[in-house]
Amino acid sequence: MIILVINGIAYKALVRFSVIDSTDLVKTATKKHNLSPITSVALGRLLTGIALMVPWLSKNDTLTYIIEGSNKIKYIAAQSKNNGNVRGYILPKIVDTITNEKGKFDLKSAIGNGTLKVVRDLGLKTPYVTPIKLISGEIAEDLTYYFTISEQIPSAIALGVLVDKNGIKRAGGIIIQILDQSLPKKDITEIEKKFKEITPITNFLEKHTPIDALKHIFGKKIEKTETHEINFRCSCSHQKALESLKLLKVDELKEIIIKNEIVEVSCKWCSTTYKIKPEEVKKILEEKNK
Ligand SMILES: [Zn+2]
Repeated sequence: MIILVINGIAYKALVRFSVIDSTDLVKTATKKHNLSPITSVALGRLLTGIALMVPWLSKNDTLTYIIEGSNKIKYIAAQSKNNGNVRGYILPKIVDTITNEKGKFDLKSAIGNGTLKVVRDLGLKTPYVTPIKLISGEIAEDLTYYFTISEQIPSAIALGVLVDKNGIKRAGGIIIQILDQSLPKKDITEIEKKFKEITPITNFLEKHTPIDALKHIFGKKIEKTETHEINFRCSCSHQKALESLKLLKVDELKEIIIKNEIVEVSCKWCSTTYKIKPEEVKKILEEKNK
């Protein structure tokens, strides 16, 4: 299945938007990492949030969202590039389900007091980022807060992952950003009202398409839309796994060679395991000793 993010502008380019049905993206991530229901919801929301940003990234841009939690969920990372490649992981992978009084997944409790970091890497030196405190822990609200406060772009964001006994049923998200303060207050109120009507976004997407969501909110105010393909795709490789072994000390490498066993190197971003043969480890050691 091709996963598309649809983005565009409305209200004479004073507003920009991006919307996605990310069901297959979240299914892929859940399968690759073998996640429990609540961790697939948490990672799924962050992945959906970062996939929405793909159309707005420039060529060598890498955008990363990192959430550090203080309760059961310790770490969530999601990353996207302008070519539509998205990847992400969560630690730990398995967490017992916590539900709130409405019977919904309680991410707020699972994450606890946490921080959100937004890292924009333009391919230059490592950027310095100040983490912001999570105000909600439900992720969409935290990203909304980040954009509104840290980037001064008033935003509305909805992210959702619907799970049933068979796994991921539906996932999706939408972001709307007001790019210019000259947009009349009545238009903002109208957008806010319509936005609320299409949330929870997963319920809306059960019966409608992402385009329906845009039509509902903006009607004839949409000026331009375009689509970008999204893939859960990692940049890891057997070669990179070998490179990572080069970081081991000579003694450690020798130990591996003595054992004469296959070494498994697992990629944290996509859980792909690379099997490194003893002769490959020998080669690394030889190069190190040169
Ligand atoms: Zn990988």
